[in-house]
Amino acid sequence: MPTVITHAIVPISIGLGLGRKAVPIRLMAAGAIFAMLPDADVIAFKFGIAYSDALGHRGASHSLLFAAAAPLLMLPFKRFFGVSAVKLWAFLFVALLSHSLLDACTTGGLGVAWLLPFSDERFFAPFQMIRVAPFGISAYLTDRGVAVILSELLWVWLPMFCIGAILRAARYAKLKT
Ligand SMILES: [Zn+2]
Repeated sequence: MPTVITHAIVPISIGLGLGRKAVPIRLMAAGAIFAMLPDADVIAFKFGIAYSDALGHRGASHSLLFAAAAPLLMLPFKRFFGVSAVKLWAFLFVALLSHSLLDACTTGGLGVAWLLPFSDERFFAPFQMIRVAPFGISAYLTDRGVAVILSELLWVWLPMFCIGAILRAARYAKLKT
């Protein structure tokens, strides 16, 4: 995984880029939580579930089916989020999907089980440039931890900042015409 906060940056950048009207603050916050949610599966290690297991890390919670299904649970609360059901689902789906995509771009661990429960094959993206994050906070105080943070800044934070800025610029350009 990239660092869990880095996952949250994706929906936050898209939300800030599209603006409050399209993505109200509550929706953006839910997106940030959903983007981090799949890594709750690291708890599996505590129960002795192997990394490669369907319920292991980067398993079921990182699958496409989970990304499509989990946002459905939030649809009854669409009024709270102030958007239509379709927008609510789409934003949370993108947040979850971005998580597994970033994981698939990391340099280590096992790949992402996108096709569970139909196949337990683990996938990586064709390009793996994000240094895989260590488990545990103390590891960040080492050289390896610093390298991970720099790699995430370069490959996730910087591109997401640019995407957010482009969306914002496009919005203002549209307002002026
Ligand atoms: Zn993950």
